[in-house]
Amino acid sequence: MKCSKCNREAILFQKYSGRHLCEEHFIADFESRAKKTIRQNKWLSRNDKIAVAMSGGKDSSAVLYFLKKAFGERRDIEIFGITIDEGIEGYRDPSVVIKIAEKYGAKCYTTSFKDNFKITLDEIVEKKGDRNSCSYCGVLRRQILNKFARELGATKIAMGFNLDDDAQSVMMNVLRGDAARLLHDQSPREGMIPRIRPFCELPEREVALYALLNVENYEERGCPYSHNALRADVREMLNGYSYRHPATKFALLNLKKELSKREEEENTNTKVCQVCGEPVFGECQVCRILREIL
Ligand code: SF4
Ligand code: ZN
Repeated sequence: MKCSKCNREAILFQKYSGRHLCEEHFIADFESRAKKTIRQNKWLSRNDKIAVAMSGGKDSSAVLYFLKKAFGERRDIEIFGITIDEGIEGYRDPSVVIKIAEKYGAKCYTTSFKDNFKITLDEIVEKKGDRNSCSYCGVLRRQILNKFARELGATKIAMGFNLDDDAQSVMMNVLRGDAARLLHDQSPREGMIPRIRPFCELPEREVALYALLNVENYEERGCPYSHNALRADVREMLNGYSYRHPATKFALLNLKKELSKREEEENTNTKVCQVCGEPVFGECQVCRILREIL
């Protein structure tokens, strides 16, 4: 099949746009859409220091590569990586992440669960079993990420989430009946570094293709504790459904945007946890978990 824009062989068919794209036109289309997302959300300002939250996987490595390519020449913008070592033997290896960041001309700073909470994820699993490993891991990581980025002077945290991740999260919150998470207020709060998600309107398969074409040596191993059954089911369901209704994932993303906009209008008060002093939404999940595991 030929590219819809030139005479070269196409490497991708975008079902939702009806276009076939060659490598060059795919990369151009991908990057211009990520830039448009940044522009529309006003995610970049002069003198920004962007900390890219890196796991070593394809999405976050591709975000760093993209930001460096698109904005690396701007003198007023600084881009660096941060990575958190949860303490998962044989899976998380900060040196892999540091190498990827350095290859694209960025520094990468590391911190760990051990440094912050004096316990590794492996030790938490040993104590509590691995049923809730992802919720412990996610809550603890979120706090460290914000705190560490703040200490490094970051003004933005860039995350690798793609359209599929976001659409799945919205659907999972619906299926769990979790209104609080569905309405999660993203408005700026004191002490919270704003998060940007340049790929949030790009489908996972396009992010994977972009990473494959541009980024080398990213981590492909999965986490030994990842067996989130609900996410896997939702993923399969959404992929099947989007095949017949190509705009579904975009619709879920818009639903989330619309709901958070309304929530933002109603809710502007900043709260800080009385125990750890970090900004929180409602009860401090980190302190609740620490009481449970330590
Ligand atoms: Fe943490 Fe779960 Fe991700 Fe593993 S899969 S790194 S336990 S959130
Ligand atoms: Zn082309």
